[in-house]
Amino acid sequence: MIVVRGYSQSFGKKDVLKEVDFSIERGEMVGLIGPSGSGKTTLIKSLIGMQVPTKGTVHVFNEQQPTLKVSKQIGYMAQSDALYDDLTPKGNLKYFGKLYGLRKKKLAERMEYVLHFVDLARDADRPIHSFSGGMKRRLSLAIALIHEPQILLLDEPTVGIDPKLKRTFWEEFEALRSRGVTILVTTHIMDEAERCDRLLLIQDGRLIDAGTPQELTNRFGSIENVFIQKEGV
Ligand code: ADP
Ligand code: MG
Repeated sequence: MIVVRGYSQSFGKKDVLKEVDFSIERGEMVGLIGPSGSGKTTLIKSLIGMQVPTKGTVHVFNEQQPTLKVSKQIGYMAQSDALYDDLTPKGNLKYFGKLYGLRKKKLAERMEYVLHFVDLARDADRPIHSFSGGMKRRLSLAIALIHEPQILLLDEPTVGIDPKLKRTFWEEFEALRSRGVTILVTTHIMDEAERCDRLLLIQDGRLIDAGTPQELTNRFGSIENVFIQKEGV
């Protein structure tokens, strides 16, 4: 589904990602784990085609990114909510659904479906400026799902939400995976990392290791230990 080869990204003199290599199979839930500033968001943005690699290649669905065609098949939940505050959930979903080219009937079906999926059906006609942070995150997830994407990129989806909603989110991610959706999720929360099929660990723009949570724990004692042992190597 996703193949990244020799990917480096620089901004001016700053090398943010260095020679990153990995691939992700269809239906996998992969966690991208790393400290703040390690390059997680930059990597996600290159997958969605918002950035052109300085070096190397990014292929999604066998097509080299960036292409608009592929980007439209990816669901993306950004680190901070990008919502229209004056609109209702329905208004937001309609706007983004149309951007993805959904026609009337399909759009109405998908809106109904995602609003129920994130439990916002009852609030669908209220302007969102009065919404809590958690409700806005739920709407962001609904928007990411509106066009039925086969790949879902989630950038720190549970930051700033309460434990109950966090649990719900993860149940939803697992439900999507069981339907064959490929998911890449960034987090630095270890109990979230442990729910992934496989982890990519990133530090200072380098992929320092990869494996299942169990493998990494067996080899290093814990996932945090991988970062400690590889610091400055
Ligand atoms: P993370 O998501 O892991 O916290 P980011 O990918 O957001 O990390 O950022 C990694 C580094 O790249 C940071 O030092 C950040 O300041 C830098 N960076 C990200 N985007 C840009 C940009 N457009 N221009 C310059 N520096 C950037
Ligand atoms: Mg980030």
